[in-house]
Formats: sequence, C-alpha cells, structure tokens
Amino acid sequence: MDRVLIIGGGVGGTIVANLVSRKLKHEIDTGQASVTVIDKLGNHVYQPGFMYITFGNEKPSNLSRPERSLLDARVQLVVSEVQRVHEDTHQVELENGEMLGYEHLVLATGARIVPEEIKHFDTQAHHFYTADAAQKLRDALDAFKGGQIVVAIAGMPYKCPPAPLEVSFLIEAELRERGLRDKSEVHFCSPIGRAFTIETVSEMATPVLEQKGIELHTFFNVETIDAERKVVQSLEGEELPYDLLILVPPHKGQQFLIDSGLAPAPGGWLPTDHHTLQVGGRTNVYALGDATDLPLSKAGSTAHFEAPIVAERIAAAVAGRDPDVKHGNYTGQVMCFFEIGDGKGTLLRFDYDHPPHPPKPNRVWHLGKILFNKTYWHTVPRGRV
Ligand SMILES: Cc1cc2nc3c(=O)[nH]c(=O)nc-3n(C[C@H](O)[C@H](O)[C@H](O)COP(=O)(O)OP(=O)(O)OC[C@H]3O[C@@H](n4cnc5c(N)ncnc54)[C@H](O)[C@@H]3O)c2cc1C
Repeated sequence: MDRVLIIGGGVGGTIVANLVSRKLKHEIDTGQASVTVIDKLGNHVYQPGFMYITFGNEKPSNLSRPERSLLDARVQLVVSEVQRVHEDTHQVELENGEMLGYEHLVLATGARIVPEEIKHFDTQAHHFYTADAAQKLRDALDAFKGGQIVVAIAGMPYKCPPAPLEVSFLIEAELRERGLRDKSEVHFCSPIGRAFTIETVSEMATPVLEQKGIELHTFFNVETIDAERKVVQSLEGEELPYDLLILVPPHKGQQFLIDSGLAPAPGGWLPTDHHTLQVGGRTNVYALGDATDLPLSKAGSTAHFEAPIVAERIAAAVAGRDPDVKHGNYTGQVMCFFEIGDGKGTLLRFDYDHPPHPPKPNRVWHLGKILFNKTYWHTVPRGRV
C-alpha cells in the first residue's frame, strides 16, 4: 500500500492531491494506494483576494470554500492540525493524538504571519495579509483625510513580493480620485538597495514610483515603531513619521516543522531541492509553495507550477519507474500579475534562468488579474490549468 499524505489544503496541497489521485486512479480503486489531505481549517482560502477587500469591494465570504468541494472524490480529507512528523516511524501526529502513516509525505503548509514580533504592530500598523486586516485597512483609508502614508516591509521573505508596491500604487491612485493627493504624501520603503528584489522589475517600477510622486526609501528594514511619536524606525537608522502606517508583517514557516526536525529555526523554511522539490535529501518527502526555502517568490503561482512535479515524482515512485525528465524537474517557473493603479497592470513571468521582462503597464494585464480572480475556483485548485 502506498499512502500519500499531504499536509496543507492550500494552493499547493490541493493541486498535488488532485493531480496525484488522477495519476493513481487505478491504484486507489484497487486498494494499492491512498491520497489524504490534512488541513487544520478544512477551508481553502484565496489569499490574493485580500488586497481586493481593501481596494475592490471584494467580500471575505467569496474568498473561502470548503476544501472538500475542491478535491477529487478519490482524495480523503482529514480536518485537524498536525502537531508533529515522526520520521522514525513514518507517521504524522494529529491534534487528538491520532497517528497517520505515510510512504510519501508532501509538506504544503504555507507561511504564517507573526506581526507580534514587532512591538506596537497591533495598535499602530495596518496590513492586508488576512481578510480582517484588509477590511480594517479599508476602514482606515475611508477615514483618512490627508497626511503621511508609509508602506514598508517588516521582514523578508514575505508572501507575494509585488504586493506592497501594488498597494502603494493603488493608494496613490485612490487619493487622486478622492481629491486628497495634494494633502498627502506616500512613502514606499524597500529593505534592499532598490525598489524590488529582481532588477528588471525594479527598472519597471522605479519610474512609475517617480511619475506618481511616491517617495522611495531604500535600505529601510523596519525595526521598531515609536507609538508615542508615531514614527517608524529602520535598522539602518532612518526615521519616518506616519499618519497611516502599512507594514508587511514578518513571516515564518510552521512551528511543527521546526519541532519535527524538518526545518531549521528561527525561520522554519523547509530546505528544498531546487529541481526535485525533495526536502533535505529525503527521497519520499516533498515541499512546495510558501513552506520552502527556495529563492523564489512566495506566490500561489509558484505552488501551482511546482505541484505537477511533486505529483509526477510520487506517481513514478509508486510505479517503480524514473520520473519523466521534463515533468519531474522544477525549473523555477513563476507568473504573477502586478497592479499599477488607474486600471493598469503588468505581468512578471520568470524561472531560475530567465528574469522577468515586464511589459509596459496596460489595461490587459489588470483585466487578466481580475479574470484570474474570478475563475480561480473552477481552474487552479482542481488542477485543470
Ligand atoms: C495579500 C496577498 C496577496 C497575494 N497575491 C498573490 C498574487 O497576486 N499571486 C500569487 O501567485 N500569489 C499571491 N499571494 C500568495 C499566495 O496566496 C500564497 O503564496 C499561496 O497561498 C501559497 O500556497 P501554499 O499552498 O504554499 O500555502 P497556503 O495556500 O497558505 O496553504 C497552506 C495550508 O496549510 C494549512 N496548514 C498549515 N499548518 C498546518 C498544520 N499544522 N496542520 C494542518 N494544516 C496546516 C493551512 O490551513 C492552509 O490551508 C498573495 C498572498 C497574500 C496574503
């Protein structure tokens, strides 16, 4: 019996489950294999929609669906929080103490945000990394009548690298629409020496920042918030006063991965092979999506492109054959839409060897992102695209 256990029913885990179950249809139907997803929520959340709660009248209820409704009938679902992986016995321990055995393990547990690591974050800073926080930011923007807005990053790596730039662009456009632009300043702080980690994207984004009058602060790694003076301070010694502070919260991997000896502290990112997606040299443990330490965007699209590789490798292992050379090796493919504001967007498409060359911002890529958001539930998690 080949038991495939997938921890995490987000983008990566759900696609892998559906693809593997299709590949192992015969084995599952004849009792030679099983595919199980364990998820602590039992709901699949479409996180890119959070930004549209702040800027596009999106409703939180549209961004979550029961995980069961997205899984192939052959996939079993267990709703429980995994406490630990016991590698010595090839078992996963659930919150009620139950143990589930595996021959093939997939770690698709995403990232968690830890705003509490920055003192005063909870009372001083807004963010858009949960549905609730995105709604509170919307309320704060509605109440904003002019002043200084600071958008900054409180820890690397974080989900969806373009998001803080997108938010800066969208806020600037909104302020113009509401007649508040003359009374406001928008500051974007980047932790590195340019606007974005990838040079070609920086070359696209920097003139847009200039043209929109958004002030760029480089080498600004958020260290502390002085709540009394309403000032955010960087590790590098710069201070910026704010009326509205928007921070990307620090992110970490899941604690149980550290406790299980699978990921190093303090970050908790899984050491993942760039091409096979195997974890720490193990041949039957895979990672994908935000949980990995790969030098790539933590993005749903990364998980989307990685899932077929994990599925092919597991199917090959079950069949006792070598994985297909083309479909069993990840090349670092990522594709992200990028909002610029004023109904325009661009596209970042790249892999390990080819940096992105974003097209000039236009309406098509903005509409592409909106269309993707609308069709997501019918396509991506089901493994149909
Ligand atoms: C505001 C925002 C905007 C974004 N915009 C984009 C975008 O435009 N394009 C893009 O490609 N990506 C975007 N992303 C990123 C994208 O949402 C994530 O990269 C993607 O969800 C990662 O997929 P994943 O499967 O790795 O993790 P997730 O989708 O986060 O799923 C992880 C799953 O693991 C489960 N889990 C965790 N721990 C346990 C445990 N101990 N036991 C059981 N289950 C557990 C969770 O319940 C969850 O269901 C955005 C994210 C945010 C927050």
